[in-house]
Amino acid sequence: MSSTMSEAEADIDPRFLADWSGLQGGRPREVLRPTSTAEVSAILQRCHAQGQRVTIQGGMTGVSGGAVPDAGDVVINLERMNRIESLDELEGLMQVQAGATLQSVQEAATAAGWHFAVDLGARGSCQMGGNASTNAGGIRVLRFGTMRDQVLGVEAVLADGTIVESLGRLIKNSTGLEARQLFVGTEGTLGVITRLTLRLHPPMGEPQAAWVSASRFEHLPALLRRLRQRLGSSLCAFEFMSGDFVALASQLSGTARPLADSPWHVLVEVAGEAHASVSDLSEALQASLADAVEAEEIEDAAIATSLAQHEAFWRLREAIPEVLTRLKPAGTYDVGLPWRETGPYVQEVDTALRSALPAARHLFLGHLGDNNLHLICGPLDDAQHAACDRIVYEALRGRSGTVSAEHGVGRLKKEVLSITRGESELALTRRIKMALDPAGILNAGRVLD
Ligand SMILES: Cc1cc2nc3c(=O)[nH]c(=O)nc-3n(C[C@H](O)[C@H](O)[C@H](O)COP(=O)(O)OP(=O)(O)OC[C@H]3O[C@@H](n4cnc5c(N)ncnc54)[C@H](O)[C@@H]3O)c2cc1C
Repeated sequence: MSSTMSEAEADIDPRFLADWSGLQGGRPREVLRPTSTAEVSAILQRCHAQGQRVTIQGGMTGVSGGAVPDAGDVVINLERMNRIESLDELEGLMQVQAGATLQSVQEAATAAGWHFAVDLGARGSCQMGGNASTNAGGIRVLRFGTMRDQVLGVEAVLADGTIVESLGRLIKNSTGLEARQLFVGTEGTLGVITRLTLRLHPPMGEPQAAWVSASRFEHLPALLRRLRQRLGSSLCAFEFMSGDFVALASQLSGTARPLADSPWHVLVEVAGEAHASVSDLSEALQASLADAVEAEEIEDAAIATSLAQHEAFWRLREAIPEVLTRLKPAGTYDVGLPWRETGPYVQEVDTALRSALPAARHLFLGHLGDNNLHLICGPLDDAQHAACDRIVYEALRGRSGTVSAEHGVGRLKKEVLSITRGESELALTRRIKMALDPAGILNAGRVLD
């Protein structure tokens, strides 16, 4: 192995040891930062021959501990494979190396007159390979789908070093297995993603935002249906937050609350196509919200009238790092549920947490349109954290939900995966893993392992 690719054990930078999950890993044997697919392949051939366990790392912004190494692991960190290799301005496609950051991809797309649709708070650090392997969601899933919907092709290296080149660039292709689907969302357990073909979208028009208050969670699905039916694909975001979350976010970010305190708030964002009339959309949004007030679905609504106000709305929603810092050590959850189940689930979990963990604060927020509910609960010691996990995950039983809607299973949720994945699904996953990585060297101890 070339010495330029490796960090000597004594010099291992702490940034290779931890992600945002707060999980403590072990000291890896070496950290390798390859610059090409061929180098990744050479590393894996050697590791496969030696039965050496490997941890794959992207931007280390994950919150499920998937990229945290175990003691003695070889780390493959993709940060040097960060090139945007080509951009097809005619069709709106981009080919990138897996270590390209989300922000660099967004900026390159915008510069070429296109739009890359996935967006999330960690955009400056998270990488395309990490986004694809966790099937990242973010704030615009309602309109554009998840990362899975943006990936047209991948190149990946299997555990034994075999390079699978499947850099498709077609929207439609009815010729059998799409290799990309093996690697999107499987958190590096089946291969190292080294390159991707990404789908771009036409640029969005000027966005408009509204802040809404509601007294009952049960009314939010009806509001969302109303907005979807009226605004169609212009509806980009429907971010709900509990009043407690908004109060703390306001205090910690120094941002005034747009409306009076209320049990629930929603940040609604709409944007038309680049040249669509902004005033038509604004009128439709105002009319929909007025109808919702009339129907008693919501209490009040405020539409941002300036860019500063628009940004202030989002500052409240994105104050999660500040909230996490204040409530640490905190439990963070990203469960998923059908709309109808979300209200009863929130009620059940809220009641149980108030009774079991009265000293901890618990704050709900999420993206209702894509079934995603986040919960932050803290501060918690280890025993309280375990109690919180039990309450949050056990309440999913029988509700057709998921223990993770966008953050992945990683190390933290593998014990609870069977609550929302059936035995036949888990057995299929094990068979595929066994076929592609029989020695179990790739991201061992994650997901099912
Ligand atoms: C402030 C903040 C906001 C966030 N907001 C969101 C959000 O809105 N939506 C959301 O979905 N997530 C969010 N996240 C979580 C995180 O950003 C995502 O999970 C992201 O996709 C992780 O990308 P990464 O490059 O940092 O991956 P890492 O953290 O480095 O790795 C994550 C997993 O992917 C695997 N992996 C990484 N690269 C590869 C590769 N090339 N090939 C195979 N496997 C690989 C790792 O082994 C690990 O299992 C947020 C995180 C932070 C800190």
